[in-house]
Amino acid sequence: MSEALIQLERVTKVYGQGAAQTAALRDVSLAIARNEWLAIMGPSGHGKSTLLQLMGGLDRPTSGAIRLDGAELSALSPGRLAAIRARRIGFVFQFFNLLPHLTALENVQTALWFGGASRQNGRALALLYQVGLADKARSLPGELSGGQQQRVAIARALANEPDVLLLDEPTGNLDSAAEAELLALLDALHGSGRTIVMVTHNSVVAARAKRLVSVRDGRIEQDG
Ligand code: ADP
Repeated sequence: MSEALIQLERVTKVYGQGAAQTAALRDVSLAIARNEWLAIMGPSGHGKSTLLQLMGGLDRPTSGAIRLDGAELSALSPGRLAAIRARRIGFVFQFFNLLPHLTALENVQTALWFGGASRQNGRALALLYQVGLADKARSLPGELSGGQQQRVAIARALANEPDVLLLDEPTGNLDSAAEAELLALLDALHGSGRTIVMVTHNSVVAARAKRLVSVRDGRIEQDG
């Protein structure tokens, strides 16, 4: 599948050394095409987050290859990998990971800065508008609800127009109303051409994706 946006080929990830070794992923191959919306499900501790982190170049595989649009991530220098991460991949985490002393607007601006753009008030504001939070630009994360914080995190993840959004349990800390809003936003992003890969425990959330991959014991148990 040469048209794959993300391709994992026989990827194994082992953490630790000697007797303390844990194989988090075992010989995983997976191809994700542009504009797919994929949900990754499976029990805790079975390798889902590891899979997402390796796809996003946050960590390197012990063996095997990971390609983003044909470029092998493990062959890149740390600087080049960081640049690709900043510009082509948007991460969203369960606990939002916003910087608490910066406003919503400043949190989004930080990502623009990492992506190489200079201070861009207008662009950051447009991103907040896109997630329905233009009126919260000056609020600190602590002044926002969980759902609002997660939408700021999505605006930040979209800052550099990444090819792919990687979300790790994005609704894990949201109530049902905020979850529904977030899913509507993901629907819209997918509709506008984003590739979305989301780890979730929640079958309602997973059902919104177009492809479901289940992971067990570091292997892909089911795909489709
Ligand atoms: P999941 O996302 O499905 O809960 P993870 O990918 O977080 O699973 O973890 C898979 C396995 O790898 C677990 O046994 C976990 O303890 C181990 N693991 C994950 N990250 C690390 C790490 N940084 N160091 C050591 N072991 C880790």
